[in-house]
Amino acid sequence: MRTGEQVSQALLSRAEAVLPGGVNSPVRSFQAVGLKPPFIARGRGSRLWDVDGREYVDFVCSWGPLILGHAHPAVVEAVERTARDGLSFGAPTAGEVEMAELIAEAFPSMEMMRLVNSGTEAVMSALRLARACTGRPCIIKFAGCYHGHSDGMLAQAGSGLATAGVPASAGVTPETAAATLIAPYNDPAALEAMFAARGGEIAAVIVEPVAANMGLVPPAPGFLPFLRRLTARHGALLIFDEVISGFRVAYGGAQALYDVRPDLTVLGKIIGGGMPVGAYGGGRDLMRQVAPLGPVYQAGTLAGNPVAVAAGLATLKILRADPAIYDRLEKNGAALAADLRRAAAGAGRPVTVTQLGSLLTVFFTPGPVANYAEARRSDTALFARFFTTLLANGVYAPPSQFEAFFLSAAHEESDLALAAAAGAAAMRAL
Ligand SMILES: *Cc1c(COP(=O)(O)O)cnc(C)c1O
Repeated sequence: MRTGEQVSQALLSRAEAVLPGGVNSPVRSFQAVGLKPPFIARGRGSRLWDVDGREYVDFVCSWGPLILGHAHPAVVEAVERTARDGLSFGAPTAGEVEMAELIAEAFPSMEMMRLVNSGTEAVMSALRLARACTGRPCIIKFAGCYHGHSDGMLAQAGSGLATAGVPASAGVTPETAAATLIAPYNDPAALEAMFAARGGEIAAVIVEPVAANMGLVPPAPGFLPFLRRLTARHGALLIFDEVISGFRVAYGGAQALYDVRPDLTVLGKIIGGGMPVGAYGGGRDLMRQVAPLGPVYQAGTLAGNPVAVAAGLATLKILRADPAIYDRLEKNGAALAADLRRAAAGAGRPVTVTQLGSLLTVFFTPGPVANYAEARRSDTALFARFFTTLLANGVYAPPSQFEAFFLSAAHEESDLALAAAAGAAAMRAL
């Protein structure tokens, strides 16, 4: 009988022979914190169990999709029921219509949309559409914002890349990279200057309206309305990448929370309820340019997959029926942030804890943290030690300074108390 970390370690050895780094997505490798990742056996509610039998309170929640926690009975039931009738048809199904109607109701800016299989795919498609509709080549993105791993978006992309210290990816041609202009987040003057210089070339500004891939960095007051005015003035589209913020910071996402209507919206994560679903959408005039109605080609063998859509629909219906979920997430997020600030102060550690609803990040810098350059001032070695003690105390936090903690509706007082105690112990142990 294997004990301790032995099962995870044995699996990792086998994995490393057949998967780069032993993983199917880089951040899972725990490379940024210098540890070996536990392999996960199962999850329920706020809890995870690894293959070695250890239990954790999970603050990653699959990087955002699991706003209801692991294996929510209604979501699991929907998946089981749908799967029994067939996994995929490559033909229209009722669930896709219901899903699109539900999303359009929550996001009035998305009059029409297309379902895809990932956030990456949704961003890629939205950018193609933006270029087609404006006839312009360039996209502005913000340093530290992540929009998936399509070629043009791999420039100063935050999280996984920030962690690895790679400015952009190998394999991206200079021609492709040149069509992406990088701006600092929360900096209106820099954007004004870019539009003054190259406004006629800019098809769209894409932004995480609540940035959560350089650690959590909320938008400064007025920043999103400014983007709306600036893009409209220059005939460029405004694209909100709400893959994290959609159905998380509010049921209607950041665009509802901040009352700004983008031209195009990208969704993912929560709308799949733990299964692979993405979506992009906007006004009818724009979306009618997508094939088969228009000249912008985009397709998918498994797009709108019935089982994945069933998981997403079940999740969205629960969120829609219980708006109090968002009040509770905000209350719990604020309480955990306050506890972690107190713990840091008690241990004499200068940190900046950002928090918005169910998202928070402990930056190991006195701050402020309003953009990527400021986030990068964090002491990542201290973060790694903080993370290590949390994990040893049963708290599964994001294994990188440049990611956010995700709370779910399944987190209870006892989970937060455990996290606060582990946080205090971790601050003392630094
Ligand atoms: C996760 C994420 C993506 C990419 O989604 P995938 O499903 O991983 O391809 C895009 N944008 C943002 C803001 C994300 O957080």
